[in-house]
Amino acid sequence: MNDCIFCQIVSGNLPAERVSEDADTLAFLDINPVRPGHLLLVPRAHHETLADLPSNLLEALSKKTQKLARALLKAGETEGYNLFSNNHPCSGQAIPHFHYHLVPRRTGDGIKFGWETGVYDADGMESWGKRIREALEE
Ligand code: 5GP
Ligand code: ZN
Repeated sequence: MNDCIFCQIVSGNLPAERVSEDADTLAFLDINPVRPGHLLLVPRAHHETLADLPSNLLEALSKKTQKLARALLKAGETEGYNLFSNNHPCSGQAIPHFHYHLVPRRTGDGIKFGWETGVYDADGMESWGKRIREALEE
C-alpha cells in the first residue's frame, strides 16, 4: 500500500507530529485541524474501514482512544472532545486507511457539524429497527 498516505506516515516515509505509538497503533496530529490538538489514530496495518478491522486491532484502537482522550483533557484548553470516524467516500472518508478523529472541544468554541437532523415517517423507525436487527442475525 505504498500510495496510502497513512501507511507512509506509519512507516516514517512521510513526516507527522506523532504523539503515541505501540505495536498496533499510531496517533498523530491532523495536518488541518478542526481545532488545535485534533488527533488521528490509525492501525499500523492497512485496513480501509471499521468493518474490515480484525477484533484485536479494534480493541487496541478503542483502548488507545481512551488514553488519548484523557491526555487531551490534561493537555489544556479542552473540556470535552468528539470521537468519530468517516467510513467510505460517501461519508467523507478521504483517506482509505481506517482512522478515528479525536477533536478537543470547549464551551463556546463555535464548531458545528455540518448536518441537520430529521424525523422518521409513521413507521420509519420501526422499519429501520427491523432491517438492522435482521442484518445483525445474518
Ligand atoms: P477523512 O476525511 O478521511 O476522515 O480524514 C482525513 C484527515 O486526514 C483529514 O482531516 C486531513 O486533514 C488529514 N490528513 C490528510 N493528509 C494528511 C497528512 O499528510 N498528514 C496529516 N497529519 N494529516 C493528514
Ligand atoms: Zn494505509
